[in-house]
Amino acid sequence: MPKTTPAYDALCAHLRSVGHLTSIAALVSWDQETYMPPKGAPMRAEQSSLLAEITHQRLTDPRVGEWISACEADATLNKKGSVTAANIREMRRDYDRRTKLPSSLVAELAETGSRAQHVWKDARAKSDFKMFAPWLDKMMALQRQKAQCYGVPAGGELYDALIDEYEPAVTAKEIAAVFGPLRKDLTELVKQVAAAKKKVNTSCLTLKIDPAAQHAFGQKVLEAMGFDLEAGRLDVTTHPFCSGFGAGDTRLTTRYRDEKFTDALFGTMHEGGHGLYEQGLPKSDPGKKKGVFGQPISEAVSLGIHESQSRMWENFVGRSREFWTWALPIAAKTMSPKFKSFSVDQMHAAVNTTTPSLIRVEADEGTYNMHVMIRFEIERALLSGDMKVKDVPAAWNDRYADFLGIKVPDDRRGCLQDVHWSFGLVGYFPTYTLGNLYAAQFWEKINQDMPGLKKDMTKGKLLDLRDWLKDNIHKHGRRYTAAELCKKVTGKNLEAGPLLRHLRSKAQAVYGI
Ligand SMILES: [Zn+2]
Repeated sequence: MPKTTPAYDALCAHLRSVGHLTSIAALVSWDQETYMPPKGAPMRAEQSSLLAEITHQRLTDPRVGEWISACEADATLNKKGSVTAANIREMRRDYDRRTKLPSSLVAELAETGSRAQHVWKDARAKSDFKMFAPWLDKMMALQRQKAQCYGVPAGGELYDALIDEYEPAVTAKEIAAVFGPLRKDLTELVKQVAAAKKKVNTSCLTLKIDPAAQHAFGQKVLEAMGFDLEAGRLDVTTHPFCSGFGAGDTRLTTRYRDEKFTDALFGTMHEGGHGLYEQGLPKSDPGKKKGVFGQPISEAVSLGIHESQSRMWENFVGRSREFWTWALPIAAKTMSPKFKSFSVDQMHAAVNTTTPSLIRVEADEGTYNMHVMIRFEIERALLSGDMKVKDVPAAWNDRYADFLGIKVPDDRRGCLQDVHWSFGLVGYFPTYTLGNLYAAQFWEKINQDMPGLKKDMTKGKLLDLRDWLKDNIHKHGRRYTAAELCKKVTGKNLEAGPLLRHLRSKAQAVYGI
C-alpha cells in the first residue's frame, strides 16, 4: 500500500463515491437498453439526468481542486512511476477538463446538439445536405470555442484539444503521420483486390440459424475467451455495447439476425474483448474500503486502447483460420449440421472478403479504416477552417472515389450517414482506426512472446492470450498514456506496418494476391 496523505485519502474516497454514481448511471442505462418497458422512458430520463447532475457536482466540487493541489505539492506522493503520481496526474487532467468549460457554453452545446440531431435525421431522410449545413456550421463554431477553452498544446492545433477527450495525449499531426502511409498502401490493396479474379463463396454466412442456437454458440466462444460469465452477462439490444460497472459485473449485449450469424458472433467477440478489458482492470474487491475503484488507475486508458482489445478478439482471433479450426465443429454441433459441409478455408475466406462500400458501419475489416480516415481528414479541416461546410459533400465524394473507387450516389449514403457531428462528437472517429493499429502492433508482439499461440487457438485454448493482455495492458489502467503503453509493450511507437502486414496477408490468403 503506497504511503498517502489526508488530502489524497479524501480524494480517493470522494472519487469512489463518484465511481459508484457512474456505475449506477451505467446500470440504469443498461436496463433502459435491454429490459425496461417502453412506458418507463420518461421516468428513466429524469433518473438519468438527476444522476448526471449529482455526478457533475461532485466532480467539479472546488474541494477536489484543493485536494489535488495539496497532493501535487507533496513530493512523497509524486515519485516517478508510482501509482499515486499517476493518479494525481490523471485527477488533475480530469478536473481541469471538467472545470474549463463555462456553463453557458455547456448549455449551448447541449441545446445545439439536440436540435442539430433532429435536423440531421430529417436531412438524412431527405438526402438534403443544405438543410443540415447551417447546423453543422454552428456546431463546428461551438467546437472551436470548446477547443479554445480546453487550450491548444504548444505547436498544436484546435483538433488536439478535442481528441484529447477520447485519446489523451495524442495529436492530429501524430495521427496523420500514421494514417498517411496506411491510406496510401490500403488504397493500393483495395485496387488489387478489386482486380482479383477470384470470387469467394460466402454461402456459409447466410445459413438460417435460430437466435437461441446463435446465443448458445456465442456463450461457448465467450467462455473460451475467458470472459467470466459469473461476473458478467450477455443480453440482446439493437445497438451492441459493453458496460463495466466495476468489480464483478460487466455486461455485454449483441443482436441476432436469422440469416447472418456472423453479425452476432463477431459482435459478441468484439464486445467480449471490451468486456475482458473491463474485467482485467485493477478495480479490486468492491467490499474493500481501500480498493482502487473510482481512481483513474482503475480505468481504461483511452478509447483507442479499449477498441484495440475488441478488434483483436473480433478480427485477429475471430477471423483467423486457427479459430475456425476449433469453432467450425462446434458451430455444426450448436447451430446447424450444415456447417459440416464447409471447410475451414471456406469459412476463413468468407469472413475475410474485402469489398469497398458506402456505409462505414457495414464495412469489412480491410476497408473500414478508409471510412475513418476520410472522416478524420474532413473534420480536422472543418475545425481549422481549411474546409467550408458547404464543400463537405464534394470533399466526401471525391475521397470515396479516390480511395475506395466508388461513386457516392447521394448524401444520405454519403456525408449524412453518421450522427456524430450533429451532436458535436468531433475527434472521436480516429479512435476506431487507432484501435486497429494498436491491435495489430500488440498482436505481432504477442505472437513473438507466445510462439505456440496459433496452435493453441486451433484447440480453442485462448486463456493464455487473455492473461497476456491482462498482464501487459489491462492491469495498468491509466498508469501510462496510450502512446507510452504501446512503447512499453511493443518497444516501438505506433506505426502502420503491423496493420498493413496483417491486412495484406489476409488478402493474400483469400484472393491469392
Ligand atoms: Zn468497440
